[in-house]
Amino acid sequence: MAAGTESLAAPHDLDGLKQHASACTRCVLAETRTQVVFGAGSPTARLLFVGEAPGFHEDAQGVPLSGAAGELLEKLLADIGLRREDVYIASVVKCRPPATREPLPDEIEACQPWLVQQIEQIRPLVIATLGNVATRLLTGSPDAITRSHGVVRDITVGSVPVKLVPLYHPAAALYTQALLAVLEEDFHALAALLAREAGEPEPPPRVQAAVGAPVLLELPLAAAPPVAGGAPAGAADEDQLGLF
Ligand code: SF4
Repeated sequence: MAAGTESLAAPHDLDGLKQHASACTRCVLAETRTQVVFGAGSPTARLLFVGEAPGFHEDAQGVPLSGAAGELLEKLLADIGLRREDVYIASVVKCRPPATREPLPDEIEACQPWLVQQIEQIRPLVIATLGNVATRLLTGSPDAITRSHGVVRDITVGSVPVKLVPLYHPAAALYTQALLAVLEEDFHALAALLAREAGEPEPPPRVQAAVGAPVLLELPLAAAPPVAGGAPAGAADEDQLGLF
């Protein structure tokens, strides 16, 4: 198939979308990937995570958020009474950038329709972005995750109005221990937000999430520019960058 000729207009269910995306050649990342890491989880998830891009382990295994960061995510989910299979994990781009660099703006733009269609199929109540790249794409704001984490926004992705809450990427908490407590607090605020959106009783709050200005995002989403110097020295090549 020639580059960029995949039809994204035809209706698909989530499995159909995944199968369609598995042959995607819309950007140069197709040339170096082992496989497309489309996403995984419940097709009716109320909570959808959006990470940055597959890393080394994800590219090898085809599973989003593998390895230590994935284990930490599962622990954070367990703390709020959820399992990995209760949520859906997607990413801004579905193929591993070489040497696990940040995805480039044209790669993000090329992959954006897959993410939008994922969200339109799943129709979650809450989207939690993990790290800078996903947060900047879905908020349209250049704010760093250090400023935007935990701040709830109203956004619209395609045809889906949804609450968005940016979070530090779990990998960031693996490298910077102080972030783990922040991430744990943000997860408990996330649980309260999810309960509110579902019309269920809220768990005892540990923190009250701040509320940001509403954001309306229509296709195409603005691709956020890459951010230099995201990860701290010593961050492993195999993990995602743009975490801070
Ligand atoms: Fe296609 Fe996205 Fe992979 Fe690029 S990163 S080849 S747009 S699936």
